[in-house]
Amino acid sequence: MHTTYSDGACSPVELLERVKEAGLQVVSITDHDSVSALEDAIAIGRQWDIEVIPGMELSTTLDDREIHVLGYFMDHRNKVLLDALAEFREERLRRAERIVNKLNRMNIPLSMESVLANVSGDSVGRPHIANALVNEGHAEDYQQAFRKYIGDGKPAYERKTSFTPEATVRLISEAGGLSFLAHPGKSIPEELLLQLIKAGLDGIEVVHPAHSPELVRYYRGIVSEYCLLESGGSDFHGGPKNDEGLLGQFCIPIATVDVMRHRLFSN
Ligand code: AMP
Ligand code: ZN
Repeated sequence: MHTTYSDGACSPVELLERVKEAGLQVVSITDHDSVSALEDAIAIGRQWDIEVIPGMELSTTLDDREIHVLGYFMDHRNKVLLDALAEFREERLRRAERIVNKLNRMNIPLSMESVLANVSGDSVGRPHIANALVNEGHAEDYQQAFRKYIGDGKPAYERKTSFTPEATVRLISEAGGLSFLAHPGKSIPEELLLQLIKAGLDGIEVVHPAHSPELVRYYRGIVSEYCLLESGGSDFHGGPKNDEGLLGQFCIPIATVDVMRHRLFSN
């Protein structure tokens, strides 16, 4: 689940209120490229008898494709991990500046200040630039901002430099966590999957709102074929992604979480 530290709509405490209402006992907060929600969330969870497993969702690139890797159970205070996340945020900031420069050269006088005014969490991305373009009257709406300017391959587009999945899997493992391929959906070719498994991926997010029952069966087959772990959840963002109602609907049994713990302690 995501909080306001990345692209979620709920603060850690608001999110845990929802979790309590839904009656979940064990959850994980997996903000994009950020572990900032975890300290508070774990403490609140302790008071309310909800176990919050430390998590995060990191964007990686492989063969020009964006692949999200989930980390679970890592030490969210690990220095190497925190340094890597800081570097990642710096890079996102520099990339936003490059996009703003491109827009300025196209005679769109957008400032970095107006972009940053839209950022509530830890890292800046194209959604913030799109909102700034709309607020400043340079685009009619959010979608048009992407279509005209900052969508993939559009005139002000700049690619992100991110870690490879290999480096990310290593980072998670060295911080004591388990890595999972996030919501692979239909779009991941099997040879890419094999490459990730070779890189040391621990498991696959099998249960996800975007996965049909056929896809769930397919990934469960891969998980058992390669002795991987299974994970799953609602990928709840609380609002912006129209996922109200998913919280508590997409879950995995506690026994599946216990298998993860077992793998952690036998490593
Ligand atoms: P970034 O990580 O900064 O490249 O931003 C990626 C995010 O921008 C995605 O998660 C989407 O939320 C949004 N996005 C990317 N392309 C589009 C598009 N064509 N239309 C609307 N939103 C988009
Ligand atoms: Zn994702």
